[in-house]
Amino acid sequence: MIELNGKRVLVVGLGKSGLAAARFLKERGARVTVSDARPATLIAELSDLLDQGFMVEAGSHGLLTFRRQDLIVVSPGVPMSTPVLTQVRAMGAHIIGELELGVEFLQGEVIGVTGSNGKTTTTTLLGEILKAAGRPTLVGGNIGLPVTAMVEESTPESWSVIEVSSFQLETVETFRPRIGVVLNITPDHLDRHGDFATYAAAKARITEFQTAEDFLVLNGENKETQMVAAKTKAQIYWFSARRPIKQGAFVHGESIFFIPREGEKAEPVMPVAEISLAGAHNVENVLAAVCAARLAGVESETIRAAVREFKAVEHRLEFVRELNAVRYYNDSKATNVDATMKALEAFDGGIHLIMGGKDKDSDYRVMAALVRERVRTVITIGSAAEKIARQLDGVVKIEAAETLARAVAFAHETAVAGETVLLAPACSSFDQFENYEQRGRVFKELVQGLGNKD
Ligand code: ADP
Repeated sequence: MIELNGKRVLVVGLGKSGLAAARFLKERGARVTVSDARPATLIAELSDLLDQGFMVEAGSHGLLTFRRQDLIVVSPGVPMSTPVLTQVRAMGAHIIGELELGVEFLQGEVIGVTGSNGKTTTTTLLGEILKAAGRPTLVGGNIGLPVTAMVEESTPESWSVIEVSSFQLETVETFRPRIGVVLNITPDHLDRHGDFATYAAAKARITEFQTAEDFLVLNGENKETQMVAAKTKAQIYWFSARRPIKQGAFVHGESIFFIPREGEKAEPVMPVAEISLAGAHNVENVLAAVCAARLAGVESETIRAAVREFKAVEHRLEFVRELNAVRYYNDSKATNVDATMKALEAFDGGIHLIMGGKDKDSDYRVMAALVRERVRTVITIGSAAEKIARQLDGVVKIEAAETLARAVAFAHETAVAGETVLLAPACSSFDQFENYEQRGRVFKELVQGLGNKD
């Protein structure tokens, strides 16, 4: 266990996780400095932090501040490649992430869920299943509660389901989930990780410290996860929506089955039709959750009831409204090309797709065939609009709306009965919005504000 009492600790980045880490450290007797590159005027919590006795560095990261520490805790929002971190690392500084700090102190069992897409949905669903099974359950990490904020409530009986991003995995030193889940690995965040191999390697770190007593749940239909399989010491369980597999969860005919150990009989878990989430990708999320929950010892009947009850998490292919027989969906969390393609696959056709925002060095050309097949119009917004229009040129009608308000108005005018208006931007939101949540809320307000056409 890391000794914190009396230690000089620096927290870098004052997002939700950074703030939680700073408070956590202080409660344990550390002498905490916080450093954020934003100017002091933009840090809402500044005066509170000063009042509570934190030392604060704002506006820049000073090498001197960083050199003076026994430990540096980095928020997931701050890239490890930040020059000052690289510099002090070379000088031998001890640098960890907020996740690592939290799991050092977290009691009970841990399930870690990572992947390019589906983390929040699967983490939330797993939390619901464990709660339904009567387990003392904590859910957090990259969503909701930062891990350092989960520690207080944890007991040796707790089950903590932690959503883990690739950024958080970059800095793990001991993180050893009892059950690790890798949902899929597809290109995302290449603007920050540099190349796909580095990104995939970060995801693989979820299993780095697992042993033969632990379990690793992997997607049998995503070939990048094979690389993770090659690296693990844990017992591997696969999931597949396409074919029966030897050990894990799969769809066969109309139902989901689970095989607890190779050679054993397949246990029926539930009919696929009972899943209320839209889209084939959500069947994969359910399969991963079924696998992890069975490995955690939850009975199939309990899993089935919890899955049946589970509705879409906000901003994840969330149904908003039907107006003039046109259905509106908010998938603002589709912040990469793969997620947007999964959303398109959830509908048969007649889609008016609102996409764009801040580009993440993505290749939109891979969407061409699917767009041609299912999309009526692509309505672009934000700074990626031009690139999208260029890469999807000739594939489908493209309308440059620039803003979300104009995009919704245009979709409302154009869509006819039976069609779907889908916000699934394939981009991040930061050029026009605070975050994807705000983008999704604005979309829902605009849609709720639309009047009847006749
Ligand atoms: P994450 O936390 O990994 O971002 P979410 O559950 O928030 O995952 O979903 C993010 C986006 O990806 C949403 O647009 C959602 O519809 C889509 N999505 C969810 N599950 C998957 C999956 N298994 N494969 C691909 N896309 C998915």
